[in-house]
Amino acid sequence: MIEKTLKNLEKHHFDAKAFDSAESMKKEIKTLLEEYHSFAFGGSTTLLETKLRDFIIENGKIHIERMTSGTEEEKIESERKALLSDIYFCSANAISEDGSLVNIDKRGNRIGAMIFGPRKVVVIAGRNKITANVTEAIERAKNIAAVRNCMRFNLDTPCVKLQKCAECEHERNICYTTAIIKRSFPYKRISVFIIDNDYGF
Ligand code: SF4
Repeated sequence: MIEKTLKNLEKHHFDAKAFDSAESMKKEIKTLLEEYHSFAFGGSTTLLETKLRDFIIENGKIHIERMTSGTEEEKIESERKALLSDIYFCSANAISEDGSLVNIDKRGNRIGAMIFGPRKVVVIAGRNKITANVTEAIERAKNIAAVRNCMRFNLDTPCVKLQKCAECEHERNICYTTAIIKRSFPYKRISVFIIDNDYGF
């Protein structure tokens, strides 16, 4: 499954690699951190669970920090700055075996950075994010990732009770934009590093 996904991601001009563990990825990340100066993150449980976030902060040069507290204006301003980071680390809600990345965001700061802005994007994901095709990737992003995010933020959206997306119009809906990234431009601007283990949601 991983091999087929890597092959199809490469066909779509992503730089795609597999790793046995988060630990075995560190050398590759360190090389990238030597090459690029400023770095930023999209919110990611995978980066926390693997402890790769800490590793990047310890080994990187200039951290463009995303504010999680403060006024709404301050938070948005920090996310705007992250769009001009040299290298941006995040995960994906789903990766289709046929070579696309699928994500659902509210603000769009992660999707925005993945598409344009940072010189380099590194998507780090566990094998549990792989789905057979884009349709299933969208289903995964909605019915697993978005639902778990609503639970994580303690929201009272209908999906928390139902444990699946209800396509709601709730005032606290977090599903504003669904992005399918089918190809990396420039070629290999986006790296997709898949770990042969389950991480995040
Ligand atoms: S659209 Fe609404 S119900 Fe569906 S996952 Fe998003 S917040 Fe939950």
